Amino acid sequence: MLSKRAHALKPSPTLAISAKEKALKAQGVDIAGFGAGEPDFDTPAHIKEAAIKAINEGFTKYTPVSGIDPLKDAIIEKFKRDNGLEYKREEIIVSCGGKHSLYNLFQALFDEGDEVLIPSPFWVSYPPMVELAGAKPVIIETEEADDYQITEKLLKKHITKHTKAIILNYPSNPVGSVFTLKNLEAIGKMAIEKGFYIISDEIYEKLIYDEYVHTSIASIDKAIKERTIICHGVSKTYSMTGWRIGFTAGPKEIIGAMSNIQSQSTSNPTSISQKAAIAALNGPQESIAMMLEQFKKRRDFLVSGFRSIEGVTCYNPKGAFYVFPNFKKVLGRRYIEKTIDTSAALTTLLLEEFHTAVVPGIEFGKEGYLRLSYATSMEVIEKGLERIKKAISALE
Ligand SMILES: *Cc1c(COP(=O)(O)O)cnc(C)c1O
Repeated sequence: MLSKRAHALKPSPTLAISAKEKALKAQGVDIAGFGAGEPDFDTPAHIKEAAIKAINEGFTKYTPVSGIDPLKDAIIEKFKRDNGLEYKREEIIVSCGGKHSLYNLFQALFDEGDEVLIPSPFWVSYPPMVELAGAKPVIIETEEADDYQITEKLLKKHITKHTKAIILNYPSNPVGSVFTLKNLEAIGKMAIEKGFYIISDEIYEKLIYDEYVHTSIASIDKAIKERTIICHGVSKTYSMTGWRIGFTAGPKEIIGAMSNIQSQSTSNPTSISQKAAIAALNGPQESIAMMLEQFKKRRDFLVSGFRSIEGVTCYNPKGAFYVFPNFKKVLGRRYIEKTIDTSAALTTLLLEEFHTAVVPGIEFGKEGYLRLSYATSMEVIEKGLERIKKAISALE
């Protein structure tokens, strides 16, 4: 028999949809895929070359569990350069992807009975990972009409004496929202006052548009920094999802505990990928601007496309590479015999009848929405949007 833990666990819905999309494509079906949460660009050449060099030089053995010093130094330099934050080596750990960073952190920090605040819409993996650590996810509903902000008032309603941490993700997946400085300050103040931690998932830091700038909550002041653990990685910024390198910066006791957990599970992240990550962080950064320019064009196209559909509204993302259009007014209509009344039903209809793969909003905690990744070509985006328009106009 399986453990209770394994029994209750669902596979990641976004990865499941990507798998379904790939399976249909393999059968020769022309799918417009918006499921994948990874940049469609190739990893920049100088990063690949650093990995090839590592292989040729025989850098193919175990490394220290928490990562090699030159990579930690590159990460320290990144935080100094980009965020004005000072860390020491013992305050940094490298893990096998940002997801692994978060997983180890939750294992190091949470106990049975702890409550963890998660603003909704949230990244699909937060609640199950919190539960795997024995703690209880407490969802804070944030709304499109409020720019998906968490205000002090909203936060106060959800804090109890069991609150251990809050998970912040900005720019966010699935919405692309960012918290205002004022609200970050309020969250920081509350964390100090009530004694909980701030887990700051800043994986989309560099993918930010228009006049918005990324401010890490840890950079507001020293007292907030002491309560903050930043989870980050190279996956999204450098189109390195397959390389599996994530990193965490925070108080040394927490980083040390994560390192112990890692030493009893995965050991070090891949030696070759660590060398590649050094090249990514220390090398030329032009690839980011190039990627961002493409993402912005696609975002603008999709947002105006969705806004032109009767009954559909669409939040304009400030960062990341997802749109989260609102279909609430359209749900409840019928397609032939079937009532399309949920985001999951709409997703199935789009995939099966209109060969377009999206993720239902409910997986991110919000019914009535769909999430589409625009980390795909303009050609797919144009085709997919046409198909969605057709599907919506076929509803009655
Ligand atoms: C993609 C993603 C991550 C981490 O991805 P890795 O590939 O594991 O580095 C973390 N948080 C969010 C919100 C993400 O979308």
